[in-house]
Amino acid sequence: MSFSPEVINAAWKRAGGRCECILATCPSHGGRCNKALDPQNRTEGMKWHAHHVVSQSAGGSDGLQNCLILCVPCHEHTKSYGRS
Ligand SMILES: [Zn+2]
Ligand SMILES: [Zn+2]
Repeated sequence: MSFSPEVINAAWKRAGGRCECILATCPSHGGRCNKALDPQNRTEGMKWHAHHVVSQSAGGSDGLQNCLILCVPCHEHTKSYGRS
């Protein structure tokens, strides 16, 4: 399972088109990442992903509250990267 387009669109609007990462473990930013992302382009250029805060293998939902818009470098720093 993955997020529906509706959930991703809602998360994108909430994020304001910017990375929502607030992980303290990311080396590239303090506070919130806020990297500007390209809404049309999830595979090239300014890449971004819809991330499961709680991974699906841990029972995370496909709801908006479990969806974070992250740039790829930030996504790679999440513990569940590659497992959701
Ligand atoms: Zn980021
Ligand atoms: Zn980050």
